[in-house]
Amino acid sequence: MDTNSVAAFDAAMNIRGHGILDPALLAHQVTLSLTVKGRQTTTRQWCDVTMSVRDLIGRKFLTNHEERPDKDSGKAFLQGPTFKKGRTLKTMPWLDIMVLDLDTGESREDVVEKLKALGLFGVVYSTFSNGKRTSTKGKKGLAKWAGVDEPGFDVFKAWLLGVKMYQPHILEDAEFLGTNAEGEVVIRHAPMTKMRVVMVLRERFHITGGPDSEERRACLRDWREAYFGVGRLLGAFVDRACSDVSRLYYGPSRPIGATNWFVDVVAGDLLDLGSVERVPLERGLIRRSKATAKGQIARDRDDSAPDDPFRTAARGMHAPEYVTANMSTFLFMYGSRFRIVDCVADLRPRWIRGDASRGKTVQCPGEDDHTQSGGSGCYAVNAGDGGRGFVLSCRHDSCADRDRADLLDLFCEECGITDAMDLVEDWCHE
Ligand SMILES: [Zn+2]
Repeated sequence: MDTNSVAAFDAAMNIRGHGILDPALLAHQVTLSLTVKGRQTTTRQWCDVTMSVRDLIGRKFLTNHEERPDKDSGKAFLQGPTFKKGRTLKTMPWLDIMVLDLDTGESREDVVEKLKALGLFGVVYSTFSNGKRTSTKGKKGLAKWAGVDEPGFDVFKAWLLGVKMYQPHILEDAEFLGTNAEGEVVIRHAPMTKMRVVMVLRERFHITGGPDSEERRACLRDWREAYFGVGRLLGAFVDRACSDVSRLYYGPSRPIGATNWFVDVVAGDLLDLGSVERVPLERGLIRRSKATAKGQIARDRDDSAPDDPFRTAARGMHAPEYVTANMSTFLFMYGSRFRIVDCVADLRPRWIRGDASRGKTVQCPGEDDHTQSGGSGCYAVNAGDGGRGFVLSCRHDSCADRDRADLLDLFCEECGITDAMDLVEDWCHE
């Protein structure tokens, strides 16, 4: 790339630029392990390369969408280096980028618009199986999941919606094609956009601690929760398997002759992982018991059923579970500036109960669920007063599972604030 303007990409078909890239971002350096041998790469063959973001999106890498004879050949990369110690959870030293696989039915435009709205830099590219019209799943596994002997069309659909989080429109006119020679059930559905989004971390994510240490496990957990958090920001479901720090990603590629490929380069900021709301696995991916799955399948497939566990699960990722619109976006963009104490003081002055060791004790937005009202169990701290972002925290048992986002969500509901971005103007000054 000879210019800072990604508009230059428009000259090439299928490749689109959105906005003007910041020279400082283009100069930012990342170190990634690369290979040209795909999954066949042995430990010592992984090659650590330090490059600028300019090179990362240059013609030799992410904007080089290659024709390939098969899916599993060719260039692949990791989210950080390996130092010749292998691509494992025990050895990866740090990560410089975050890569999300999106293949549940979002469109290219959806993802690009979401990145733009968040002000995030990202490269979105179609993967080898973009436009795929069939999905398969081993019959045995499916039977076990559903607790039935002969899994048919309904079971498979329920699995795709409930476990793989396919968006319902993908399966609207789906057709069951039976069982193939490999013992897999096969379904034909609307073409599925399969893409990957690459974001660059503002600060290196270090994975510290010995191979089996608690410290290392905590780092891996934090990455996973941040990963789900970013997935939620993008309004996308991300697979648990992808949250692995040592995951291998193939570069942009397509079958020979395919024309439906694309690369989008979206101008914006580096990803500040520190301000991404962590999403624990239990909340991000709702795992259903066999009994629930069976119950679902037995039930008449009524999309409007209020207790449909699959829809509830899907909502968890596709649309965050907050009552207040744009809560995740607000936290990401303004969590480090939000003056929560001032906000409570302005909107519910009587909720301020006194001084805390940091900030103020306040009435808990979830107090209706407390066994006793009153007390000093809940406190709030303005962003900038000591910590990194604002704090809203409650020590009551009934609030044990509520983080600051959940409590703020309740507070907004109480105050009639339907869109979290309405908090920006009055309480998020620099
Ligand atoms: Zn509480």
